[in-house]
Amino acid sequence: SQRVVIIGAGIVGTNLADELVQRGWRNITVVEQGPLQMPGGSTSHAPGLVFQTNPSKTMTKFAQYTVEKLLSISQDGQSCFNQVGGLEVATTPERMEELKRKHGYASSWGVDARIITAEECIQLYPLLNPELILGGLHIPSDGLALAARATQLLIERTSAAGVTYIPSTPVTGIERAQGRVTGVTTPNGNIPADIIISCAGFWGVEIGAMVGLQVPLLPLAHQYAKTTAVHSLKGRELNSNINGMNATLPILRHQDQDLYYREHGDQYGIGYYGHRPMPIRASDLGVTGKHVDEKNMPSRLNFTPKDFETAWNESQKLLPVLRQTHIADGFNGIFSFTPDGGPIVGRAPNVEGFYVAEAVWVTHSAGVARAVAELLTTGRSETDLADCELSRFEEIQLSKEYVSETSQQNFVEVYDIIHPLAPKISPRNLRLSPFNTRQRELGAYFLEVGGWERPFWYEANKDLLPYLPANWQPVERDAWTAQHYSPISAVEAWKTRNAVAVYDMTAFHRFEVFGPGAQDLLQRLTTSDITKSPGTITYTLLLDEQGGIKSDVFVSRLEKDVYQVGANTAVDLHYLNREALLHRKHSKQYVQIRDITGATCCMGLWGPRSREVIDSLSTDDFSNKGLPYFHVIKATVAGIPVLAFRKSYVGELGWEIQTSAEYGQRLWDSIMQSGKLHGIVAAGRAALNSLRIEKGYRTYGSDMTTEHSPFEAGIAYAVDMNKEDFVGKAALQRLIKQTPSKRLHCLTIDDGQSVVLGKEPVFLDNKAVGYVTTAAFGFTVRKPVAFAWLPARVREGQAVEIEYFGCRIRATVSSDPLFDVSNSRLLA
Ligand code: FAD
Repeated sequence: SQRVVIIGAGIVGTNLADELVQRGWRNITVVEQGPLQMPGGSTSHAPGLVFQTNPSKTMTKFAQYTVEKLLSISQDGQSCFNQVGGLEVATTPERMEELKRKHGYASSWGVDARIITAEECIQLYPLLNPELILGGLHIPSDGLALAARATQLLIERTSAAGVTYIPSTPVTGIERAQGRVTGVTTPNGNIPADIIISCAGFWGVEIGAMVGLQVPLLPLAHQYAKTTAVHSLKGRELNSNINGMNATLPILRHQDQDLYYREHGDQYGIGYYGHRPMPIRASDLGVTGKHVDEKNMPSRLNFTPKDFETAWNESQKLLPVLRQTHIADGFNGIFSFTPDGGPIVGRAPNVEGFYVAEAVWVTHSAGVARAVAELLTTGRSETDLADCELSRFEEIQLSKEYVSETSQQNFVEVYDIIHPLAPKISPRNLRLSPFNTRQRELGAYFLEVGGWERPFWYEANKDLLPYLPANWQPVERDAWTAQHYSPISAVEAWKTRNAVAVYDMTAFHRFEVFGPGAQDLLQRLTTSDITKSPGTITYTLLLDEQGGIKSDVFVSRLEKDVYQVGANTAVDLHYLNREALLHRKHSKQYVQIRDITGATCCMGLWGPRSREVIDSLSTDDFSNKGLPYFHVIKATVAGIPVLAFRKSYVGELGWEIQTSAEYGQRLWDSIMQSGKLHGIVAAGRAALNSLRIEKGYRTYGSDMTTEHSPFEAGIAYAVDMNKEDFVGKAALQRLIKQTPSKRLHCLTIDDGQSVVLGKEPVFLDNKAVGYVTTAAFGFTVRKPVAFAWLPARVREGQAVEIEYFGCRIRATVSSDPLFDVSNSRLLA
């Protein structure tokens, strides 16, 4: 079998060894720079609080599995998880609302949770100050992970199964040949390997550098302190003295003050995120010595009492019994933060056989390990990895400066209440489309994604609000959904459906796939026949081997050997690059992928009057005959060479007009000038989102992921089962015969005005049966619309309820799409 080397024997590395052993892999070596009984990484001192609920479904699933697994690892009748429950308390009305939202996540992802009153909080946790508490969120299955003990037991059981552990041995290099890893270098010699997985925690940056890989994590110190004994906790009956089992009260979070708590016998442990960020460079810490103990390990720095002053004052307010105690011991412990708060997991894009599983909390450790083991043994993780993918970052997001600033910001915000649309405050203006100057002049409200500034609406269109017909008037929004929203988007939607609008589509990824091997490569990777003649566009899917949706893409054939792929993420680029490399190797056919996103720009010109605008600027034939739907031509618009793609993300007549970046501003000016006569406006993402949802267009990453098949996601039309072969076809042949258990459904909200934002749970007969993916107010259909994953048995017309901040909103399962079923507008 393959020779595997795992770097790091923390909670992640040992779990991974175990998960691989469970899947029958045996040839595994774990290399650890510290001694095995206490390696000295973050796990060695982790207090181990496991709060499972997370806005990310993936992260919650990872946490649920970690709990399940730690409960199953036991010795002398004691497991590695003390299921004392978790309590998050609110001391402000805003936090109380946030806990209700979190209760929604718990219901969406299948975690049993309850919003409880202040009195119930005190009953559950008598040491709380009743004067401060407004209420709480109680999750009975949360608790304390005994991470260090679990690590030891996993080492024992995997060693017994044949895994080799090499302690006190730092990996100093990674050997490679012909683009593949071949082994690791250590001071005691080399260890050959076919697969290397770096589970080195916050040392990940240094290990990544050994293969030229930028691992975007930042080690930061975080304060943890223990008090002297609390009198009222003395003499309690405890099941055990093992650290972690010596607690009976729920683990506690006081996020309004960036604090969390657990018991250590009769002492209290207090963790604090309210202090200044303290970045560290792992390479400055040196290599772990032979001697590691509780107080002496590389991941443990000296306590800085001044940084803890506020924490101590606030803790004594929340838990008045602490006033009789003082700080007995404290340290600044190091662990990893990342630009978006997610872990860093997956295959390295630049070298075959190298994988990473870092920036992982104890909470998610077994779940991440299982996902990586699945990836290695079957080629895909059962749980969607988009939130954790190592290659999810854009190039600009890998710079040291970006990683440092955003990861520190994530530390600062770790317990903050953050709106799902809230943009980063800094760094901004990293990537600007050539239309940006004009957009600013029009008062664009920008939100950021992948470094791109994307207009959500334009203040300049405010003047049109008084002209908005009665049946296009926006509805009132509650304070939460009114954030990062403006009624101006109603104007922009109205103009798109009734006149013409321009949308900046520059931020969407565009890749050129060219060379004699382009056709064969894309034919193998996509679900549709893309051998059609040059000038055609195909909407198609990239699947994994199990038929899960990896992405949805537009493949445009520009010339015999030149295609353009309109894709979703940087992950798509890395996937295509790797496949192109393998294709070159195996077929000896040349094919190359070039990311042309930043060098080009793209504008959606859409609406019933769009043809009049383009005809006034071009002598090329934009008629149905000259450029039919889903076709592309080279054209000249206002003297500018462009590619015109006849397609629309809003379901209207029009084109995506793409040109080289330097012509962008001139293209914008010409179109806006000529469009004046036809009532043109610039329109933003808020209108676009509304129009695409009512037209039934899915968004990859939110509405569908690798966890879904095209049949379940309602996009079987993008699959050509008659095509000879493609990645995922064999799986689809099996799936097509089965009745799916779930489906993506379209919902409309009955009261016509309650807008939700996504991830809210959906209830049928009072039982949470699914969750909302994306949602918007459908301006044309005059009601809020949402996509939701629900059991397949749910039928059109059925009544369901969506939980939103603790309230239930009635909704109806509707037909899909809601707007222009026959595509008459697109084909106009
Ligand atoms: P580590 O445990 O750091 O393991 C990595 C291993 O790799 C180390 O043993 C290291 O020696 C080894 N290694 C590194 N470089 C090399 C090399 N070149 N060669 C060989 N070996 C190498 N998480 C929670 O879920 N809940 C909490 O309540 C919680 N509280 C925390 C409190 C504090 C104070 C801190 C610091 C962290 C806390 N965390 C918590 C985070 C959690 O501890 C870590 O995220 C987790 O332990 C990381 O596990 P790991 O296996 O990835 O890394």
